[in-house]
Amino acid sequence: MSRKAEPARSYGETISLNGFRFTEQRRQVYDALMGNPDHPTAVEVFMRVKTKMASISLATVYNCLETLTECGLVRLVNHHREPSRYCPNLEDHAHLFCEGCGSVHDLPMRQNRPASEIWDLPSDVVVSHHEVSFRGLCPKCAAAAKLKSKTENLNS
Ligand SMILES: [Zn+2]
Ligand SMILES: [Zn+2]
Repeated sequence: MSRKAEPARSYGETISLNGFRFTEQRRQVYDALMGNPDHPTAVEVFMRVKTKMASISLATVYNCLETLTECGLVRLVNHHREPSRYCPNLEDHAHLFCEGCGSVHDLPMRQNRPASEIWDLPSDVVVSHHEVSFRGLCPKCAAAAKLKSKTENLNS
């Protein structure tokens, strides 16, 4: 499923599955995440929604995000002590936290393999879900770092 899946269908599915109501506010918050799935923080979501719904408050955005997370429409992404970020990609994936620019990228898993096929899990461990994060450089920062080391080599 691509990230550009028709939101109308998932709204309907969610309503029937969870008895959850897509209020205009929740819809705006969800759309802000789907429209640009770059793992924004609640404050960043708030700034986006505010351009379309000037009356919305940060507290409401927090509430909407909490509800969307509880309903399983959005995933919470935590990294060290940074503020939580939100991810609308429900496929199995890991996150790459860029140490250069602070961006967060989705790393898709190959063929949705279960954790036991990737990790050497003790047989008496029961996994309910797993979260994997990578730290490093995003493609942009990696290219910039490569360029920088090249010019440094030239200057030395
Ligand atoms: Zn993600
Ligand atoms: Zn970067």
